[in-house]
Parts: sequence; C-alpha cells; structure tokens
Amino acid sequence: TVNSTVMEEALKKIKVTKTTHSRLSEVDFNHLVFGKKYADHMLVADFDGKAWGNAQILPFQNFSVSPSNAAWHYGQAIFEGIKAYKDQEGNPMIFRPYDNYKRFNISAERMGMPEVPEWLFIGGMSMLIDLDRDWVPTGEGCSLYLRPFMIATDEFIGVRPSDTYRFAIINSPSGPYFNKPIKLLVQDKYVRAFPGGVGYAKAAGNYGGAMYPTMQARKEGFDQILWVDGYEHKYLQECGTMNVFAIIGNKALTPDLSQGTILEGVTRASVMSVLEDMGFTVEERPVSIDEIVAAYKDGTLREVFGTGTAASVAYVEQLNYQNEQLTLDTTKYDVGREVIQRLDAIRTGRAEDTRNWNFKIS
Ligand code: PMP
Repeated sequence: TVNSTVMEEALKKIKVTKTTHSRLSEVDFNHLVFGKKYADHMLVADFDGKAWGNAQILPFQNFSVSPSNAAWHYGQAIFEGIKAYKDQEGNPMIFRPYDNYKRFNISAERMGMPEVPEWLFIGGMSMLIDLDRDWVPTGEGCSLYLRPFMIATDEFIGVRPSDTYRFAIINSPSGPYFNKPIKLLVQDKYVRAFPGGVGYAKAAGNYGGAMYPTMQARKEGFDQILWVDGYEHKYLQECGTMNVFAIIGNKALTPDLSQGTILEGVTRASVMSVLEDMGFTVEERPVSIDEIVAAYKDGTLREVFGTGTAASVAYVEQLNYQNEQLTLDTTKYDVGREVIQRLDAIRTGRAEDTRNWNFKIS
C-alpha cells in the first residue's frame, strides 16, 4: 500500500470530478479487446515549467492540443504499462507499480522531461483505481491495463526541450492474452537501440522506429523481430516489445542491461525471481545467437520465451537466423507454463506474495 503522507498529499492536491454517466454497462467483459475501451475516469496534471499542478481526476475525454505542440514534432513523449488485478476477495491490486514509477522517471530524465512526484504517479493512480475499481475485470487472465504517460506541451516549433508538460493516466480493461507461439526473425539490417541511445527508456520514438522493420518481418511470415546488438549483430537484446529468456539445461539466460540498450522489464525481474524459486540458475549476461544455435544443436536448448506486461510469457516456436531455422515444440514448454501459473497465482492473491509485489487498494 501507499505511504500515508504520500496519499494525504495526493488527496489534497488532486481534484476529483466524477462522471454522471458511467459507461461500464456498455462494455462486454466477456469479449474485451485490448486498448479499445477506457475506464470512466482519467488523471491529468500539468507541469508549468516549475511544478506539477492542476491535477485532476475527471471523466475520460479528449485533449485539445495545438498543431504546434512540441511532442508531435520532436517526440518528447514517454509512457508506462502496468496491470491491476483483483484478489480473491475482489479488492483491486496493482502489480509492482513502484517499479514502473522508477522506470518512468528514468525515461523522463533521458528525454529531458521533468520528474513526476510520487503523490501524482502512485497517489493519483491509487485514487483512480479506487474510483474505477469496477473496471478491474475478474475473469481468468483478465486485468485492467494502466497507461501513465507524459507529453511535452509547449506550443512552439523551435527545437529545444519543452518547458511545459502534461502527465496523464488512462486505463483500459483487457481480456486474457492469447498466448500464440511466436516466430522470430533475427536480421542484421535494422537495430532497435545502440549504447548511448534511448533503448533503456520507454520513449514513444522507440516504438515508432520499430514499426517498419516489424512490418517487413511480418510480410515474410514472422511475428516479431528478435533484436540483436548493432555492432556484431549477434547478441540478443529483446524480442518485439518483450525481454527475452532462453532455458538451456538448468540455466535461464537473459541479456544483461549494462549497455543501456534494453528496457528493464518489470516482468523480466519477476520472471527471474520465479525461475530462481523453481531452482533455475539465472544468468544475466551477454547471450549470443551462436550460443543459442549451439544449444539447439546439442539438444540442451529447452525453451525460448519473451516476457512483458501484455503477454506475461510468449513462447517462441521458431527462430530464424541467417540460414538456420530453429524449431521448438512449445507444447513441451513446462518452464514457461509454470512461470505463468506462478505469476498469475501471486497477482490474483491465490499464492503468498512473499516479495510484496501486490500494491493493495483497500
Ligand atoms: N521491452 C520493451 C521494448 C517493452 O516495450 C516492454 C514492455 N513494457 C518490455 C521490454 C517488457 O517490460 P515489462 O515487463 O515491464 O512490461
């Protein structure tokens, strides 16, 4: 739960205007489509160049933005993705929001944007989920997807950091993610991030830049790109918008973060802990595609999967690298399957939350 002084500050500073027209009854919770419907309320606050103010929770509605808005031209825009679940008593819980809060401010710093205070991000999110608690679905694998974001708001098309910014949180109920096994393409033409770049930040432009290479891969029949480093084109980075793990024998390998080219996933951290609980030795270090191919050939490669908030764990059924095609039988992915089960049990209060990952909204 949130520290009481932080919550007091949030309650004092955030003005609440409730909707008079809930849209809850318009949503078919048995057929939720990701990212299409938004909960009744949103949080909005503005940075005036000095401090965050004008913080409000109000009915979900459009923004009015100048065509000269700085974010649209120069891309000072960052975001987060978090999920809220319900425990067995029906109380909403947010999964590890402080980790996303920290990452959000890391992204903000890299993009020259102001830090967001705890009362606004954590306190505001708590108030919002408290108000929209009925929007947190309870069905198997369902959750409320929370999308905090920040954009530059100066009405100025000169190239310089904006003085003013807007922070907001919108929430979208999401259904069970269908874990379709994925086919990955490793190529050396396109690179997601370089050392010294913005790969470790959740900056909007990282996603924009990945669209075209991913579209090309899709045309060739692949689902996602397995991004590799930009120098040697052989060290694994991420798969699509997920972190990547390989299970080789009793080891779980995942690329280390030292180059600043990889987004430090909250799911990645959770999966590393769960794998340790399951008795695996987790190695966070450079992982080359050659090592994966060699393990595939000598029969020790058991599983390759991606991890992220959206899918939790996405099984890789095919990995294409130069002339090699590695095919994996995902029906035998006992490790990935157990990881999902354990995570789901913790997030919905069916298993003991020994690491205090669940943030309760009472
Ligand atoms: N890498 C990238 C590029 C991502 O966009 C995401 C999704 N946020 C992840 C990894 C996984 O991060 P998380 O587990 O925090 O969702």
